[in-house]
Amino acid sequence: MSLSRSELERYDRQMLISDLGSEGQRKLKASKVVVAGIGGLGCLSSLYLAAAGIGKMILVDKGKFKLSDLNRQILCWQRDIGRFKTDVAKEKLEALNPKVKVEVLVTEITKTNVRDVVADADVVVDGLDNWRTRFVINEYCVTQGIPFVHAGVSAMHGQMITIVPGKGPCLRCIFPKEPPEAEDIPVLGATPALFAALQVMETIKLITGIGETLAGRMMFFNGKEMEFETVEMKRSVKCPICGNL
Ligand SMILES: [Zn+2]
Repeated sequence: MSLSRSELERYDRQMLISDLGSEGQRKLKASKVVVAGIGGLGCLSSLYLAAAGIGKMILVDKGKFKLSDLNRQILCWQRDIGRFKTDVAKEKLEALNPKVKVEVLVTEITKTNVRDVVADADVVVDGLDNWRTRFVINEYCVTQGIPFVHAGVSAMHGQMITIVPGKGPCLRCIFPKEPPEAEDIPVLGATPALFAALQVMETIKLITGIGETLAGRMMFFNGKEMEFETVEMKRSVKCPICGNL
C-alpha cells in the first residue's frame, strides 16, 4: 500500500523511527484495528491510533456520553453529552485524520456477534469495563490467532498484558474464573490515558513487528507510589481456550 505525499508529511516524525520507517507506515495503513469500548481507554487509544495512521478502525460501543464521563473520556466535550459515543468518536477521529476509515457499531460484543464484529482484524484493543465481554473477545481472538491488547484500570492503578495466541497465556489462563464485575469503578482520567497510550504502542509494535510486546508478561502500575512492575505469566496447559494451541 503506497503513501501519498501528504501522508509522507503527516507521518514524517514517526517514520524517522529507524525500524518503523515508510515500510512500517505502509503496514499501519494496511491494517485493521478493533477498539472494543469507547470509554476512558478507548477514547484515547482510538485518538492515537487514528493519529498514527491505522488504515481502518472499527469502534464498538452501545453507550451515550454523560457528564460523569468527561473526567476521562477525552473524545467527549461538553457539547457531546447525550450523543452516541461511536458517532462522536468517528466525527473527531476523521476530523483529526481524514485518511483513516472509521466504522462504528452501536452494540455490545457477544458470543453471537463477535465473529462479525472482530472478523479478520489485525489487533483488538481492550477498552472494556467488564470481564464478560473480555472473555468473549479472548476466546475468539485465540481461535483466530488475533492479538488482543488487554488493559484494565481502577482509581490510580492498572494492569495490562498482550494476548498473542500461542506466545504466552490468554486471559483465561490468567483468570480461570471471571473476576467479579464492578459498577462505577473509581478512576482518575490520567490512569486510562496512560494505559491507552501503552496499548497503542503495543498495537503499533504488533502491526509493524518492532520490538518486544507484553506477550507473556503482565504489567502493573501503581500511580500512588509511581511504580511499574512486570510479572511473567505462563500459559496453562489445562486452559480450555488456548490449551490445545
Ligand atoms: Zn489460555
